[in-house]
Amino acid sequence: MDLKVNFSGRAIHFTDDEIAAAVEAMRNADPLAQGKYQTAFEEKFASYQGVEQGSCFAVMNGCAALEMSAQLCNFKPGDEVVIPSHTFTASAYPFIKHGARLVWADIDPLARVVTAETIEKAITSKTRAVVPVDLYGYVADMPDIVDLCRQKGLICVEDAAQAIGAEIDGRKAGSFADMAIFSFHSHKNLTTMGEGGMFYVADEKLRKLVPMLRHNGHCAFDFERKDYWKPAMGNVDLPMLDGTPLMPSNYCLGEVECALGAKMLDRIDEINARKRERAIRFIDALSDFPELEFHRVPTRRHNYHLLVARMAAGEKMRDDFMREMFHNKGIRCVVQYIPLDRYDFYRKLGFGKANCPNADAFFDSMVSFPFQHWLSEAEFDYMVESTRDVMKKLLDRK
Ligand SMILES: *Cc1c(COP(=O)(O)O)cnc(C)c1O
Repeated sequence: MDLKVNFSGRAIHFTDDEIAAAVEAMRNADPLAQGKYQTAFEEKFASYQGVEQGSCFAVMNGCAALEMSAQLCNFKPGDEVVIPSHTFTASAYPFIKHGARLVWADIDPLARVVTAETIEKAITSKTRAVVPVDLYGYVADMPDIVDLCRQKGLICVEDAAQAIGAEIDGRKAGSFADMAIFSFHSHKNLTTMGEGGMFYVADEKLRKLVPMLRHNGHCAFDFERKDYWKPAMGNVDLPMLDGTPLMPSNYCLGEVECALGAKMLDRIDEINARKRERAIRFIDALSDFPELEFHRVPTRRHNYHLLVARMAAGEKMRDDFMREMFHNKGIRCVVQYIPLDRYDFYRKLGFGKANCPNADAFFDSMVSFPFQHWLSEAEFDYMVESTRDVMKKLLDRK
């Protein structure tokens, strides 16, 4: 059986204007990293987000931004971080790497993201930070979650990797918390040629540390130099946070990627609107099959980075559905975000226990449909028809 609709590893195709913007930077950028295209991307991104200039930093990927956010939490031994178990692994492990213990929070069964309530259940006297994730492109209840964090004196890091452009009452995903991260990976609604990310830091004092953390501890000398090459061309110093030295890395994003990212910001609202419009069409075309539970959000709160459903009848019917779709229809659906406590990685590190029944139940019966932006209308219609056919067949069989 030929594959008719694949779950692509690539979310979007570039327009000629976007390709031209990248080519222009390839021809003219000097230097090819850490130059004017980076500055322009960061400024345009901050404007798009409606946040202060100087608060957004381009980085090589979302994971690098999470690593720096974890460093800026300045964990002390025993500190805990509350993170949804239902998320991508990069949401979580940077916090272990920088000294925290993880505590898993459950998700809302319909919205499939954490809420203030599920987070509160996971908070202990040792909690230092909370990492809500806007999974699938749906903005979690950030105003409530931030309120809870303020009340309890906790740092809030919003993982908006999948949620660029989504908003609550005109406020953008990734603008609510103390810090936020975005990903421009190949799968995401905006991609800077495969890898890329943005790091948002609200606090001015913390913000000052980011350029050094991002680029090998490089900084200016704090005195006038007579010869520009003495004592060295540039300085390297140790970033210090409240008396704690932080280790730098090289997490920079190249100029060509920045040029492309800045250009793509012009189109992101259109991309999101297209995905949302299609998601709603798909959901409505299947509304006579309540066995498939979608999260229907016809507003900008959801950018439908991914289109997922829960098979209410459970795992067996989900598996039958996936098999039928794949072998008889040539459509490759996938299953995503195994609760992280089930991975060997987290078990071996002592984080194999969670009290997240909603996350477990959702994962065990979820389907993620191919939903790259460039699906043709014919492919999309074929997927709607095929889903209807397969559901009918499975229900008749029962
Ligand atoms: C993609 C993603 C990340 C990591 O981003 P990269 O750019 O791939 O490092 C983190 N969290 C979530 C929820 C993601 O989907």
